[in-house]
Amino acid sequence: MDSHSPKEFLRFLKTRLPDMLATLRRFVIEESPSLEKSAADRCGGIIGKEWNKHAARVERISQKYRGDILRITYPPGKSRTSCQLLVLGHYDTVYSTGTLAKMPFRLKAGKVFGPGTFDMKAGIVQALFALQALQHLRVQLHKRLVFLWTSDEEIGSESSRKYFEAEARRSDAVFVLEPSFGRRGLLKTARKGVGETELIVHGRASHAGLAPQEGINAIHELARQLTRIEKWNDLRRGVTINAGIIEGGTRTNVIPEHARAVLDLRALRVSDMRNLEVRLHDLRAVQAGARLEITGGFDRPPLERKMSAALFARAQLLAKQMNVSLGECIAGGGSDGNFTAALGIPTLDGLGAVGDGAHSAHEHVLINTMPARAALLAALLASC
Ligand SMILES: [Zn+2]
Repeated sequence: MDSHSPKEFLRFLKTRLPDMLATLRRFVIEESPSLEKSAADRCGGIIGKEWNKHAARVERISQKYRGDILRITYPPGKSRTSCQLLVLGHYDTVYSTGTLAKMPFRLKAGKVFGPGTFDMKAGIVQALFALQALQHLRVQLHKRLVFLWTSDEEIGSESSRKYFEAEARRSDAVFVLEPSFGRRGLLKTARKGVGETELIVHGRASHAGLAPQEGINAIHELARQLTRIEKWNDLRRGVTINAGIIEGGTRTNVIPEHARAVLDLRALRVSDMRNLEVRLHDLRAVQAGARLEITGGFDRPPLERKMSAALFARAQLLAKQMNVSLGECIAGGGSDGNFTAALGIPTLDGLGAVGDGAHSAHEHVLINTMPARAALLAALLASC
């Protein structure tokens, strides 16, 4: 039934706010650092248990080094439809075990603080209550829902990537519950692609005083290359290349044999990303005898706005029905949404919590935004 207005979801979810906070507390007090499997698994167990209570089917996809991935399907039985929607998120955090002692779960001045509240355990809670709203209002879904909660997003998604990519390929749309941006909860309708490259210069060592003619100065060569590369920055197009680390040389009276730079690469368009990679690999040494070695490149493609435009328009419309104005922004950093969008699957990111301070001591969520965000997700899942 399409007749459910987002307002009905919101009305129900406002009554559930105390329970949302209690659930968030259970998820946050079980710390889940990406690099500590047993801790992460305990947290995954708690999250799975909550979903189990709500008639969803919870599977644990076991992982050798990272916390197990949770795959949750609703309705739980064999569904008549082959179409599905994917709701994607991660339950790992950047905080190692014991952080909770310095940064406890606490409510203060309309905010809820604690490690991983904003990025992104509140997003998982909002999804859980979105499902409850769908159930409470007996919404007949057009498509099967798959919720996938991974545990290594904060360290590059190396082990989960194949699972969520496979799931995304089977889906008509992907909703990513990463935090939104700013107090107004902007969705992230575009994300830059992100990469890293290392440029190593091999020269030839020699005594700077006795045999300068025999040396090839790797630092001088690197400096020339970097001045060339710097010109590739194009802020208007969202292309940036930043030399973040340089190293080289041994002593002032030695012509350095080696120098290296590590560069951060970002681009908003796939074409710009490819172009940067080609230019990097086409670099040639300026000095005779010097040799360049270039490794790395982009490891996350950009989430181009065209992949989220239609879903965003729909979200805006649904938000308007709740008297909420919904904005959008470009994020400079990547998420797993970059990967799903690159597969050609419509992806809407930043649907999670409203708050601030991800990865920092003041990480928090604005409490009274939680019902509306959950209602928005429920409305999207009901309408797609
Ligand atoms: Zn995140």
